[in-house]
Amino acid sequence: MTVTPSVSSAKGRVLIVGATGFIGQFVTESSLDAGRTTYVLVRPRACGPSKAKIIKAFQDKGAIILHGLVNDKEFMEKILREHEIDIVISAVGGENILDQLTLIEAIKTIGTIKRFLPSEFGHDVDRANPVEPGLSMYEAKRRVRRLVEESGVPYTYICCNSIASWPYHDNTHPSEVLPPLDQFQIYGDGSVKAYFVAGTDIGKFTMKTVDDIRTVNKSVHFRPTSNLCNINELASLWEKKIGRTLPRVIVTENDLLAAAAANCIPQSIVASFTHDIFIKGCQINFTIDGPQDIEVSTLYPDETFQTLDDCFNDFLAKLGDKPVNTNKITTTNPVVESMAITA
Ligand code: NDP
Repeated sequence: MTVTPSVSSAKGRVLIVGATGFIGQFVTESSLDAGRTTYVLVRPRACGPSKAKIIKAFQDKGAIILHGLVNDKEFMEKILREHEIDIVISAVGGENILDQLTLIEAIKTIGTIKRFLPSEFGHDVDRANPVEPGLSMYEAKRRVRRLVEESGVPYTYICCNSIASWPYHDNTHPSEVLPPLDQFQIYGDGSVKAYFVAGTDIGKFTMKTVDDIRTVNKSVHFRPTSNLCNINELASLWEKKIGRTLPRVIVTENDLLAAAAANCIPQSIVASFTHDIFIKGCQINFTIDGPQDIEVSTLYPDETFQTLDDCFNDFLAKLGDKPVNTNKITTTNPVVESMAITA
């Protein structure tokens, strides 16, 4: 009997698109930490000091920077060929999902890519049905999925659920800001559970899947039992960390639907996902037993996930010596550099 190794011994050369973005940074860090040859595609446009700093940090760790656009087919074919790329990971933001259609055509033309991971990093978009405007983003992600499947290029969909943080309904990158210090907004009765995964774990486990033959043409669902929590529990955990209780304000289903219907982009997209997660239970209302589904903890049972407790300790450390009675450290409208679109 021959035993098929689950992971190939040689590490494929990786190209990451969207590496300077919120999710892309976690993935790129993990790729570099894993000692992979990592190419990073950067848009050829003026970037601010913080993006320049990110690019420099990647270069210092050995990343090879390429300048270009993912929706330039000729260019993409050229770099994929010239650099003998094996694995392409895309983490383009919500507003650029359809740019990947050109990338898929380029991947198909050159015919040597062993794995493609489109920009997913959220819910299973074939199962979740948020209200608009979130639905339109899922329709774009579904279109990308269908083209990948038609192309015959081996793929993996990363369905990592929510990033570990306080899930602000109007903030696309909530883990960049602290949980509230003035009051908690509780969605509905606060009892619907969701999976909260640390960004570093999203990067780490994504990179484990890329040349694992068990994940070819599969959706990899991130459901670590230690990270399943409802918003009431999340609030209690943060109260324990900061050593005091905070008032709770109920945000009803209708409030979230109204925020979504306001169609203020991107906040309304986040409101529609918040409704889907914390009212409809879109992360937990299905079983992952389809032929295309696989759960990440069953793939890598010896690997641990950072717990929510660990993540909230990190937030507490960030709080540092700021007085805890300050209402405005960051709550509902924190400054984030780019308000792109979440899961
Ligand atoms: P960001 O907007 O933070 O970053 C997008 C990246 O893509 C940037 O590096 C951007 O470059 C690059 N990019 C966009 N268009 C192009 C192009 N045409 N050519 C080359 N590069 C391009 O994205 P996010 O990290 O927010 O989103 C990535 C994915 O993760 C999305 O699918 C999103 O839905 C999901 N997500 C999931 C979350 C969760 O909680 N599960 C949270 C947040 C996102 P530049 O630097 O030039 O702008």
